[in-house]
Amino acid sequence: MLEHLGRLPESVNSPNSTETLFSKKSHEEHTLWMQHMDITPFDFCYLDMLLQQAFADWQVQRLTDFGRSQTKYSVWNAEGICVAPIEQESIGAVVQLVSECLDSGQPRIARNLGAHGQYAMLAEPLYSRINQDLFAVFTALIHEPDRYETSEAVVRSEAAHFRTCFYRRFEYIFMTDLLKAHEQTAREEHRRSILFQIIQRLNDKMNADAILDKVFESIDYLYPATRMNLYMSQDQKSPHSRIKPLLVRERGNDICVRSFKEGKMIVLRSEQPGNRIAEVAFPLKGNQGVYGVFHMEMNEETIEESDLQLVSMMADTTGTAFENAKLHEQSNMLVQELRLMNDLTQRLNKSLQLMEIFDFSVQELLAIFQAEWCCILQLKEDTDQFEVMSSNIPDFAHKTFPLDYGFAGLLRQTEEPIILSNYAEYGQLTSVFMEVTHSLSLMAAPVRVNGVVKSFILLSHRREHYFSYDNYRLLQMLSIHIGLALSNATLHAEVRRLANLDMLTGLYVRHYLDNIIHERQAHEFCGSLIVVDIDQFKQVNDTFGHQTGDQVLKQVSDIVTSSARPEDVCARWGGEELAIYMPQVGIHQARHYAETIRRRVAEETRPLVTVSSGIAEWNCMDDKVTVESLFYRADMALYEAKNGGRNRIVLEKQEINR
Ligand code: GH3
Ligand code: MG
Ligand code: MG
Repeated sequence: MLEHLGRLPESVNSPNSTETLFSKKSHEEHTLWMQHMDITPFDFCYLDMLLQQAFADWQVQRLTDFGRSQTKYSVWNAEGICVAPIEQESIGAVVQLVSECLDSGQPRIARNLGAHGQYAMLAEPLYSRINQDLFAVFTALIHEPDRYETSEAVVRSEAAHFRTCFYRRFEYIFMTDLLKAHEQTAREEHRRSILFQIIQRLNDKMNADAILDKVFESIDYLYPATRMNLYMSQDQKSPHSRIKPLLVRERGNDICVRSFKEGKMIVLRSEQPGNRIAEVAFPLKGNQGVYGVFHMEMNEETIEESDLQLVSMMADTTGTAFENAKLHEQSNMLVQELRLMNDLTQRLNKSLQLMEIFDFSVQELLAIFQAEWCCILQLKEDTDQFEVMSSNIPDFAHKTFPLDYGFAGLLRQTEEPIILSNYAEYGQLTSVFMEVTHSLSLMAAPVRVNGVVKSFILLSHRREHYFSYDNYRLLQMLSIHIGLALSNATLHAEVRRLANLDMLTGLYVRHYLDNIIHERQAHEFCGSLIVVDIDQFKQVNDTFGHQTGDQVLKQVSDIVTSSARPEDVCARWGGEELAIYMPQVGIHQARHYAETIRRRVAEETRPLVTVSSGIAEWNCMDDKVTVESLFYRADMALYEAKNGGRNRIVLEKQEINR
């Protein structure tokens, strides 16, 4: 638009006047103010186009037909240059006449009866309507000398008519500009109200996903032709297909990466002539950092500075709202995690049975992470293998693997947890766990039991990218608690084991033997009990002292243990009396073992001692099968052996229906 033409008088520019322009007043009243609009000498240098348009308008609405072929009209600007018609060749005489007209400010007429034939020239000055500034010259070159007199009047009226055409055009342009400005203002207002609504709604939301959805919805509404994506730097699980990860390495230093790094909006206008798409990237930024980048592709012709401002304001609001929602979510999650951990710990600690803890942990982990498969392995130091302690994979329990195998092997080596989004692309090791379950996603964590990495948790899902970073963090914390529960249970088992052992001899204590025999009598068919008593032990003590007595007791115990079978249970029954329970063994077979013990004691102990033994048996045919009766009968047999001269074995008296 012409620079100075756009200026409105003060009274028109105020909001009230704009209002009068569109209120229901008469047409005259509406347009009256336009009569007071005019050009000034400042506008003259911008007038050529307007003069040309006015000339075109005038040509189609000419007052007379006069000289349509014989008379050549033209229009000149205030500098004496012909502007319309465009193809007009400048005739020196006319230029001269125009110059005279501009200098004098008066109409000029020249007649020529020379060699080119007879013609007349008229130059009519055109004045602005208020200040009467001479802004153009209207000329006519007439080739009909006989009609000069009439033609002069005609040219004057055509000049006046041209001036009217000029002012009509001027008003038209002025009007359209005004309307455009008005439209723009209305559009701005509309946008601002939308932005306000968006901001309000964004701040209402405490859910990061909902905020991002709202932004997409708003942009779609405001700019339907625009394509927008959001590239997130951290994983944001979203159902939105337009939210993608920002793969900095793959993108190089493109507009999104730059916007992300610099934390500001970047606009890239295309340099190719045919391509009218402009790219806009603006960061999703809060006070604590940049979370991602919005990327828009807009039609270059339709975007304006105000659009970019709007988008940038929206981005700022979104960033803050998103950050708030994230913080809110995080604190919610923290509370939830603490609650979860508290629950889990409480339930884990209810059990001091190792196997129960493994099974329970598998069930809990599956539920917490909504994983499909879980497996907990344990390091078995005695066999140098991993053993599956619990798993929901059929036939997986108690499977064993070499120490350097699979993910448990990796965990043992690194002692660091693992998160894997796609096993198929990993390719660094094979895992039966992943293969048999057809899993792609994996989370795995080592579990420290009493400070040492002993157990390994594996969790998987068939979908890729299934576990989030938050899941991974949570698993790390849960594995600490599972480790503590396992530590407690291990400690407890150890205490129990120690409680069943006699310190001096390393044999089981009597009540443990009682329990075992009781258990066996409930499930098996028969068994024998040998009671072994050192002969004249009092004398050993008296002769060599208690310490030597203890050593002899230990020697006898070792002979007893090494003479018995692994499945036999050897115990210290009390004082210097020992007992061996032999499951599923009859009294005569037991006698051989007792004999071996007797012989070896008499040969191997230092100082040399002897032992006497009494043996009793039970079988399921007996009337009364009790631990007490078995001991009693064995003791009676021992008594017999002592009475019989010691260093001997006596079998219980075989009575019918005992
Ligand atoms: P016998 O059985 O042949 O009839 O004679 P004995 O001397 O072995 O019998 P008695 O039951 O009278 O004595 C058992 C002795 O064993 C008494 C006690 O001093 C000793 N004794 C019991 N427990 C221990 C122990 O833990 N260490 C030592 N050094 N002596 C023990
Ligand atoms: Mg004795
Ligand atoms: Mg004794």
